[in-house]
Amino acid sequence: MSTVEILRPTHNPVEFDISRSPTIPTTATTTATSTTSYHDFVQELLSSPNHLRLTAEGFSAESPSSASSTNGERLFPSLPPLHYGHSDLHLRKGIMNASHLASEGEVDAEKAFFVADLSKVYAQYRRWVSCLPEFKPYYAVKCNPDPFVLRLLAALGTGFDCASNNEISQVLQIGGSISPDRIIFANPCKALSFIRNSCKMGVDMMTFDNCDELYKVKRVHPNAKLVVRILTDDTKSLCQLGLKYGAPLSTVPGLLAKAKELDLNVIGVSFHVGSGCYDPSVYMDAIRRARSVFDMGLNAGYSFDLLDIGGGFEDGLFEQGAAVVKEAIDQYFPDRRGIRMIAEPGRFFVAKAFSLAANIIARRAPFPHPTCNWNEAAQQIDAEADQPSVMYYINDGVYGAFNCIMFDHQTVQPYVLSLDGSFHVPSTEIQTNCSVWGPTCDSIDCVCPSTRLPSSLRVGDWLGFDNMGAYTVCAASQFNGFEVSKVIYTTGGGAAATEVRNILAAFASASRQRG
Ligand SMILES: *Cc1c(COP(=O)(O)O)cnc(C)c1O
Repeated sequence: MSTVEILRPTHNPVEFDISRSPTIPTTATTTATSTTSYHDFVQELLSSPNHLRLTAEGFSAESPSSASSTNGERLFPSLPPLHYGHSDLHLRKGIMNASHLASEGEVDAEKAFFVADLSKVYAQYRRWVSCLPEFKPYYAVKCNPDPFVLRLLAALGTGFDCASNNEISQVLQIGGSISPDRIIFANPCKALSFIRNSCKMGVDMMTFDNCDELYKVKRVHPNAKLVVRILTDDTKSLCQLGLKYGAPLSTVPGLLAKAKELDLNVIGVSFHVGSGCYDPSVYMDAIRRARSVFDMGLNAGYSFDLLDIGGGFEDGLFEQGAAVVKEAIDQYFPDRRGIRMIAEPGRFFVAKAFSLAANIIARRAPFPHPTCNWNEAAQQIDAEADQPSVMYYINDGVYGAFNCIMFDHQTVQPYVLSLDGSFHVPSTEIQTNCSVWGPTCDSIDCVCPSTRLPSSLRVGDWLGFDNMGAYTVCAASQFNGFEVSKVIYTTGGGAAATEVRNILAAFASASRQRG
């Protein structure tokens, strides 16, 4: 494959051509119509009472002065502003903003960015409460320690699953009154200094799965409330955690006897069926095992009162998983008075809430014959071999937000946010086989080895990726000098937008009153 320079000479790749009055698809927002130009679009935003706060910020440079109320509301002084409106709207506004910055010659104006719709986190919380009302969720902070997500969940009354000192501090510092008993230190293998510190912070509840951990706890946090993490079947999950954690049932009686001998307080049982669990029936066996460990506890002289069913909940399988959990609980814990039941969902709360916009910064394509046009060239190659004929390079990759491809075994699907400088993507656009690559100089940095996208996409256009909230931002690195993509926050365009904002506003004002 050879490279070719096929940019139109008149076109500045990072400039978004607002004057061409491109159109916006009807699906974009409830206020936009298929014939809306950018100008009409912004006018509509300005005139719509629901979107009053948005104003024309899409065209203003991001600066500390954007703290003013016209640019979204700053509910929390230390955090970015919070906007109203559907995430699609903010993806487009972000692109227009990038275009404006690019026209001013700003370096990195076209940088990739996330849009987080907090109403989607709220919707998942409602779904949790309606399907699993008996289980208090302790959000797994490692999944996405986003400051707004943590505040919203705190305001809703969830607990938190922390795995390190920093995660504990982060939760305790979000304001409001996060009591340390809303935290479970759910890492079975902790540094001694972390255990000592959790004692100092008042975090008592923690998991263990080995004997050494008991000696460490005895030394520096003898009043800890211990939870034995057991091994369950994790073969039906994308990320199998049993390789690393979980006590096999055969070792549990010994562990409990040792804990008793050390005069430690073991209060219950936890497990994790693995992250990204695609067969929720595994909760049945896991809860059966937990039941048998409750009985082992009785034999060792403990009367457990905590059952922690961990994480692993998938958005698409949630109702099914919840049904299995309920059935298992009825079967194995028919009398559960006096037993506190909790879970540690991570992915479930945040996956859908974040979208990413990334800019096509480079393109590599077969060299078209001088007389043939780009589309025909791409099609011809497509026909010859079912191999990706075009390589698109975008400005976020597997060392950044797309680390989920490496660490979380995810595949991602791009869609076109803007094409040829317009938000309007005609359905007649010819698609081609292509691959999508990240910006670093490592060949492992492949976002999408094979997908179909319009062959007319070019440098400066934008791709969107949905479902980017879980295990993405948190593990992004700055390898090769590329920054971690920033987040634009909205409470969404739906009916819950105001409700979510009120919940956050009340939390913010409670935090301020407590100083
Ligand atoms: C990662 C993790 C979770 C969250 O898992 P999800 O699959 O994101 O729900 C919960 N508990 C523990 C102990 C974890 O390590």
